Amino acid sequence: MSDDPTLSQGRSYLAIPGPSVMPEAVLRAMHRSAPNIYAGELIEMTHGLIPDLKRVARTDHDVAIYISNGHGAWEAALANVLAPGDAVLVPASGRFAHGWAEMAQGLGAEAEILDFGKSAPWDLDRIGEALRADTGHRYKAVLAVHVDTSSSVRNDIAALRAVMDEVGHPALLMVDCIASLGCDRFEMDAWGVDVMVTASQKGLMVPPGLGFVFFNDRAAAVRAAMPRVSRHWDWAPRANPEEYYQYFNGTAPTHHLYGLRAALDMIHAEGMVHVWVRHERLARAIWAACEVWGQGGPLELNVADPAFRSHAVTALRIGAPHGTALRDWVERNLGLTLGIGLGMAPPGDPAWHGFFRLGHMGHVNGHMILGLLGGIEAGLTALDIPHGRGAVDAAAQVIAGAA
Ligand SMILES: *Cc1c(COP(=O)(O)O)cnc(C)c1O
Repeated sequence: MSDDPTLSQGRSYLAIPGPSVMPEAVLRAMHRSAPNIYAGELIEMTHGLIPDLKRVARTDHDVAIYISNGHGAWEAALANVLAPGDAVLVPASGRFAHGWAEMAQGLGAEAEILDFGKSAPWDLDRIGEALRADTGHRYKAVLAVHVDTSSSVRNDIAALRAVMDEVGHPALLMVDCIASLGCDRFEMDAWGVDVMVTASQKGLMVPPGLGFVFFNDRAAAVRAAMPRVSRHWDWAPRANPEEYYQYFNGTAPTHHLYGLRAALDMIHAEGMVHVWVRHERLARAIWAACEVWGQGGPLELNVADPAFRSHAVTALRIGAPHGTALRDWVERNLGLTLGIGLGMAPPGDPAWHGFFRLGHMGHVNGHMILGLLGGIEAGLTALDIPHGRGAVDAAAQVIAGAA
């Protein structure tokens, strides 16, 4: 009774926090023969991407593009401002903050981690204390993850900037928006962010393969004072190329650029504010369903306070072995893939099977989220996992604008 693969045919749905669902328009734009990389349309098209990328980041400053995933963008940003022996402060609300800190350590920097656990936002007072205690200004940067995809905590970047200003600490504010850009509201210039990193495969709806580093004049000045910057990661020629090949320090990622062009057209046709509002509404529908399920069983949202929840990814606790059982069931029976828990328990630990995540970033709409939630409801039922009744109805109320 619990396994009935007769319903798995049809369009599969990858509801993990990246790579996200890609629009047909993006896929179609990429399905073409290679363009001339020395002259013509590709060159003009690439120039045109820059202002439209900046509009997504809400910045008037610079952007460098890398052929890389998010880890590459992390390293690219750090390689421009950190020399061996430099120190950084890293407030952590999940696994990705630790990952970025490790990247800094790999470049010979010292990373001071302020760990706030796996389900809580930053304690800004503690960050303020750490900055105040750094009277010699050893911290060259604060590495801040906007949405930590492992925990789904969304931290308050503007409030962190205010703390840094209040203390008068000159460190750069560097923000990882890999999971949040194109989903959650983010304002690079208005929030005083010096460096922002992101990647193509989440809110930007393009396959993995492009990393982006946005930087302002303060960050450029720090870069200019570096004793040495690796030629490949150097953001200066990429942001202000004299020759086309300098955009990418070599062959352009031709097909990704066509995909990105189509994705940016979609984002700006919808409008940034509408993109944020859509993600917020869909996230609220998911939370409403999860709260109802949790009233009659073990399922729990990882982040208690809605003010600190991502609108792009939702981390859930359901107790082992239910997380893995549920993911397996919906994939086998419904063609629906949910995200694994990340960083919540070590992979060999039986507790690892008690977590899962929902990706709802980028090209997702109301019927997809209702399908996702209906699929989970079917899985909970088939697996006899206790859960409250009426979750999909609660989500429908939010989608309908009635709650
Ligand atoms: C996905 C993600 C990364 C890592 O990106 P990769 O493309 O997997 O290297 C880093 N930070 C955050 C917040 C992410 O969501």
